[in-house]
Amino acid sequence: MEKSANNLSEQGKQSATQPESSLLAPTAEQLKAEATADVLPIMQQIDVLATEQDISLSFLEHLLSMPKNNAVKYLHAKARKAVETVYGDKIFLRGLIEITSYCRNNCNYCGIRRSNKTLERYRMTPETIMTCCKEGYSYGMRTFVIQGGEDMWWNDERLGALVSDIRSQYPDCAITLSMGEHSRESYQRLFDLGANRYLLRHETADENHYSYLHPSEMSFQNRMQCLQWLKEIGFQVGCGFMVGSPGQTPQTIHKDLQFIRTFRPQMVGIGPFVATQHTPFAEEPNGSVETTLRLLSIIRLLHPHVLLPSTTALGSLHPLGRELGILAGANVLMPNLSPVENRELYNIYDNKICLGDGIDHCYDCLQTRMESTGRRIVVERGDFVG
Ligand code: SF4
Repeated sequence: MEKSANNLSEQGKQSATQPESSLLAPTAEQLKAEATADVLPIMQQIDVLATEQDISLSFLEHLLSMPKNNAVKYLHAKARKAVETVYGDKIFLRGLIEITSYCRNNCNYCGIRRSNKTLERYRMTPETIMTCCKEGYSYGMRTFVIQGGEDMWWNDERLGALVSDIRSQYPDCAITLSMGEHSRESYQRLFDLGANRYLLRHETADENHYSYLHPSEMSFQNRMQCLQWLKEIGFQVGCGFMVGSPGQTPQTIHKDLQFIRTFRPQMVGIGPFVATQHTPFAEEPNGSVETTLRLLSIIRLLHPHVLLPSTTALGSLHPLGRELGILAGANVLMPNLSPVENRELYNIYDNKICLGDGIDHCYDCLQTRMESTGRRIVVERGDFVG
């Protein structure tokens, strides 16, 4: 079924004003007016955080460890206010196309690491990818995220040709790549051919922690170098990390936040760590949804303009995870445009949601879910407002 962009936008507007079951939370002003003596000092410190766009390690530890009280609600309310000041009530969609599950790397947390011999691998054809774009476009998506493992079949020539094709057929859309580490020359070529954005999670800003999460052939310096190159070339750059990854501490998270403050990425992707079978971390506990939500709010206050997805991993660990992410300050959703038969094979982590849902179902589901947050999905590229 073809839906027109205008209809989608209008639908979003109408439904946002008439939510069927609302998750709407009190505003920061309401919470502060009713604050009790035990939480008021914390709210005041949150105000300082928002004004100075900085956070000390001790206050971070306090925010992450305090019980779920009105100060936590205040943190989320301040983050909502911050995102709405920059982006209004808009939620931007990114159509995710997982083009290959082959990967030369062996990250210790990842289900498609090369040592996982239990996995049936796939690689989409360029024709299939273009079909995914066409379908996504008809559902109002104006950003395509081309994601995959570091698959050498997708060399400069093939990936460049794909970027050129998408660019010529969808001149009004943003092309985001999420294809791992490459040379500066390769990144430059992809940028010159029309790619606009690049997602490369830094994973952790602590070198020792990076070594714990990755095999010895992968280097923290190279990851940071790649991010720097991408920024210098002119991509809108996304970094990010998993919340609750093995070996993570408040100190490493504080380093992540300091990195985000200084690097000033246009996007930050964070989601809870999900333990995945056939990986060295299969028996580790999952990351916390609650901690992820608090960190989303903190990142929003440290960097109010950043584009912040409410991730599928959040939705995979909590039935309302994506709604709660939006209410904590996120403003992006990434529905999956990959053919249903490929999704289970792109098993970067276990128990991922929406594996069997086509974009028609997914789109309607997200519309309904977002109605409850009082925000609306829009048909826009959703570029960074700097
Ligand atoms: S996290 Fe990325 S680079 Fe690492 S194994 Fe998975 S797909 Fe490959």
